[in-house]
Amino acid sequence: MKPTGAALTAGVIGQPIGHSLSPLMMAHWVEAAGLNAIYTPYIASPHMFAPVALALQRAGLKGLNVTLPHKEQALVIAHRISDRADAIGAANLLTFSDGEVHADNTDAPGFIGSLKASGGDPAGQRVLVLGAGGAARSIVYGLVEAGASSIVIANRNRQRAEALRDRIAPKADIVGWDGRDEAVGDVDIVVNATSLGLTGQPVLDMDFAHASKPLIVADSVYSPLITGFLRTAAAAGHKTVDGLGMLIEQGKPSFEAFYGQPAPNVDVRTPLLAALGESA
Ligand code: NDP
Repeated sequence: MKPTGAALTAGVIGQPIGHSLSPLMMAHWVEAAGLNAIYTPYIASPHMFAPVALALQRAGLKGLNVTLPHKEQALVIAHRISDRADAIGAANLLTFSDGEVHADNTDAPGFIGSLKASGGDPAGQRVLVLGAGGAARSIVYGLVEAGASSIVIANRNRQRAEALRDRIAPKADIVGWDGRDEAVGDVDIVVNATSLGLTGQPVLDMDFAHASKPLIVADSVYSPLITGFLRTAAAAGHKTVDGLGMLIEQGKPSFEAFYGQPAPNVDVRTPLLAALGESA
């Protein structure tokens, strides 16, 4: 359906925003659902985030996805914050209703949904998480919620790893960044939640020689789709999960929050891969 003046409107706000795949993903769902709806990208510098988001609320948007660098600031303008967003300290979803702003975090269930869809239910599993930034906070929260039996965190900056543990997973163990290869020997799942491997960033060096069994190895990075980290893991015989599934799974509850119905069950992965210049 072509949008009319009565279209339901929502969007994504960040800086930069031109790389975001969310508008393409949402457009596919909107079309498949036959909705009278629009989803628009908005750019805002850090000091313009609050005025722009609040102006969009007043202009009648149903809500906003929030991406870098605003995920923490998103909590500041919220009247209500979900327990999950509060614990993680960041929101990627703002919904607007009754004059209020509600903040939530769907990155955590998005990661777990992607892992499960790839046959990697983390319940009862031992997990090594590389990284301690915003993505790692969401992923560790999701792992705790999903019942991982143990979590080990390795991050270049150890203090950041300790802060993550203290905030979200007090029982987690911490190993030094140089201890990550050895830590692989005691886990079932390994997750890259650093920005290493992202186009323009150094590759994440990882040696899986200590693995005592086939592992599930997941990346949060999806550009490129197959990172050096995933390529090394696959070559060592481990099952790999790319970061695009996390992006798609975090989008589903956002779609439902904006448009009042579940995201249609259609293939969005193929058009997203095409946009990334990857083949299906
Ligand atoms: P942050 O900037 O908050 O954290 C970056 C992390 O990467 C930190 O742990 C940092 O370690 C580590 N890091 C960066 N450079 C190096 C390096 N040279 N050596 C070792 N460690 C390094 O970023 P986010 O957590 O927000 O995002 C991380 C990635 O997650 C993004 O690149 C993005 O691709 C992905 N992501 C994917 C999503 C999806 O839907 N698939 C959703 C959100 C994020 P230190 O603390 O020591 O600096």
